[in-house]
Amino acid sequence: RLYNEVQDLKGNIRVYCRIRPFLPGQSKKQTAMEYIGENGELVVSNPSKKGKDTHRLFKFNKVFSPAATQEEVFLDTQPLIRSVLDGYNVCIFAYGQTGSGKTYTMSGPNLSSKEDWGVNYRALNDLFQISQSRRSSIVYDVGVQMVEIYNEQVRDLLVVDNVIYFFDLHTLGIWSTTQPNGLAVPEASMHSVNSTADVLELMNIGLMNRAVGATALNERSSRSHSILTVHVCGTDLKTKTVLRGSLHLVDLAGSERVDRSEATGDRLKEAQHINKSLSALGDVIFALAQKNAHVPYRNSKLTQVLQSSLGGQAKTLMFVQLNPDVDSYSETVSTLKFAERVS
Ligand code: ADP
Ligand code: MG
Repeated sequence: RLYNEVQDLKGNIRVYCRIRPFLPGQSKKQTAMEYIGENGELVVSNPSKKGKDTHRLFKFNKVFSPAATQEEVFLDTQPLIRSVLDGYNVCIFAYGQTGSGKTYTMSGPNLSSKEDWGVNYRALNDLFQISQSRRSSIVYDVGVQMVEIYNEQVRDLLVVDNVIYFFDLHTLGIWSTTQPNGLAVPEASMHSVNSTADVLELMNIGLMNRAVGATALNERSSRSHSILTVHVCGTDLKTKTVLRGSLHLVDLAGSERVDRSEATGDRLKEAQHINKSLSALGDVIFALAQKNAHVPYRNSKLTQVLQSSLGGQAKTLMFVQLNPDVDSYSETVSTLKFAERVS
């Protein structure tokens, strides 16, 4: 194994919490983050509510304060990402209400400044750079797919002609773990990555295609899951052994509760699909954490696509994204409860 540090990780599911800072113009708001401990502890409280049950303690593998930089967040994620080169399947996803910083963590606010790059760019760049540096003994191929799941339909985000096209998911499910080259979404286009420029170009196409859907359907990006999948195949030139690993980087749909009395038509349908897929994800991770014999992968497209990187030898990391303000308190608590259940 090339990256032994991964062996030190306890169990296969890790949970990191990240609290976003107040945004410009939000300075007068009150924070619900009462205590952020070095050891992964977080106490949230709602000072506007008097009485008992106003303080809650949660524990994570790590809590990133609002001051944490993209670089710091990535450094704690890098060993996991690099284990893909050793043939592991890894899944990293961001969970939280809309506006809590999921896209910031996974993609970043913009691509022009390298400091702002989120986990996606840094991961792809890191994998591609390492794959270059080992060229002498091992040859690596790095391929990328990117899809969006909206209302239980899967769409290719890396088609260059901007044609919005949905396809049925032919998941290879369980086979993908025994058949090394099995792809969960074989219909989605595969793009090889040979440079940082390739990385940026692909990410741009993905973002553009997501935005195209967004104008048509009004901010759909917060109501769909986007999944960037990096396939790494390493061939040892001496022994001719082949190692395959994959990395799923997931920006989930917003977890906020939709008021049933207000949502109708399309909005209600979207909300039901999101609810269903996020609880299916929670159920899968909960079953894995409990080491249950039966893991209910088949209850949503999301868990079907991610199946090969959830469970078994796979490593899973969840970013729990939080809004700092008191106004978000009840959503914050419900996000934290989701995290508590799966950790
Ligand atoms: P989400 O994807 O969960 O809906 P976003 O990532 O779009 O949330 O974040 C909402 C806003 O907050 C954006 O303007 C984003 O740039 C900003 N933001 C989120 N996290 C941070 C952070 N850690 N530092 C600075 N700004 C942030
Ligand atoms: Mg977003």
